[in-house]
Amino acid sequence: MFSVDSEQVSTTSKPDISREKSAELYAKAKTYFPGGVNSPVRAFKSVYGTPLFIKKGDGCHIWDADDNQFIDFCCSWGPLILGHNHAKVREKVIEVMQHGMSFGAPTALENELAELIVKNNKFIEKLRFVSSGTEAVMSAIRLARGHTKRDKILKFEGCYHGHTDALLVKAGSGLVTFGETSSAGVPKSFADETIVIALNDREALQKAFAEFKDQIAAVIIEPIPANNGLLLQEKEFLQFLRDICTKNGTLLIFDEVISGFRVGFEGAAGHYQIKPDIITYGKIIGGGLPVGCYGSSAEIMSNISPDGAVYQAGTLSGNPVAMAAGIAQLSELLRMGFYRDLNNKTEEFAAAIQRFATARNYKFKVFTIGSIFWFAFTDKEAIRRADDIDAASMEQFKKLHRELINRGIYLGPSGYEVGFISSAHSKIELEKAKRAIFESLEIVFREK
Ligand SMILES: *Cc1c(COP(=O)(O)O)cnc(C)c1O
Repeated sequence: MFSVDSEQVSTTSKPDISREKSAELYAKAKTYFPGGVNSPVRAFKSVYGTPLFIKKGDGCHIWDADDNQFIDFCCSWGPLILGHNHAKVREKVIEVMQHGMSFGAPTALENELAELIVKNNKFIEKLRFVSSGTEAVMSAIRLARGHTKRDKILKFEGCYHGHTDALLVKAGSGLVTFGETSSAGVPKSFADETIVIALNDREALQKAFAEFKDQIAAVIIEPIPANNGLLLQEKEFLQFLRDICTKNGTLLIFDEVISGFRVGFEGAAGHYQIKPDIITYGKIIGGGLPVGCYGSSAEIMSNISPDGAVYQAGTLSGNPVAMAAGIAQLSELLRMGFYRDLNNKTEEFAAAIQRFATARNYKFKVFTIGSIFWFAFTDKEAIRRADDIDAASMEQFKKLHRELINRGIYLGPSGYEVGFISSAHSKIELEKAKRAIFESLEIVFREK
């Protein structure tokens, strides 16, 4: 097989693709929605051009309103680990839909999805389905507070946990601080209950536990932080975190809305073999439909209403159509060798791009784990904290994004977002993507 790494690549910038129909749709959308979108990052504020309106997806490809075709590395921000419009997921959803779409009463499908998870995940005994990652996190925090009868929570700068009030908080100044709200509309008194520290900082963690002795209900972390670049943590730090929580009677929450079912069926907990007290899931668990979930030991979950005093409910929780998509998708993930193949494919892809960049002395690193990758314009060997990311380098990402779009490669529209590879990304398509990435990098670095 030929190796694209060793080839000369074309260095000509391509003309911008036509976005006529997308632009028209966007103009109309702006009359209905703030910023023309129903979730902010979709607005393409950090990259060139108007957002692309997608009309179709199949396998690793998507098509926009102007019929441009792309190899998609956004995959709906992670849920589509089998690619777009997977036959098994589609067929199961259609089958279940024939019999009605919501009852507000229990269905066997909820048991079926729960069984798939509990039987194949040693970190969870009981769980509750909700309809989004945000909801899962919000409920997990309430559960931790209800269980420990404490109010404070601790989070890390550079981890994203959805848009619940308590977590729209960023670090203030100083080593250990109360957070400052990162959104208008969050009362300061809420933010005062949230302590924010940097990732990979044991000293700050110790200081926080000393300063707020017996007050911290939970520490929440993305064990694989993947919402602000890919800030891979060392296992030793996560173990340190586990131990300090145990010592202080604080619950450790792993927010695995991205990493869950992504780096392996047991997510980051399984990858690092570290047992958190509560885990939240979202994204992949719903097979492309809105599902979130939080789970824990049977004992901790007994706090949840109607067994216990922590209230949590949902009209569409455990919705049969969404459960169907989850069942179909997770069943595929349990096939022998699924993760091995997907992760190997990603590793080869990332390594080839890294070799290309290193050979040309580009200040560029590909960080990767499982089937997640992140392009960083840096020469640092590791980036473990949010403040290790060079904000100015986002200008280079912006150029890269434009060149890639013009070559039929779709990445999430921000340099802080990671990319995802699905089982539908074939070797041939990945070779095409690599070639486009090589050409685009050459243009970005030539212009520097
Ligand atoms: C996406 C995400 C959330 C929020 O999930 P939504 O479904 O968007 O509400 C929470 N935590 C993490 C780690 C996420 O990646």
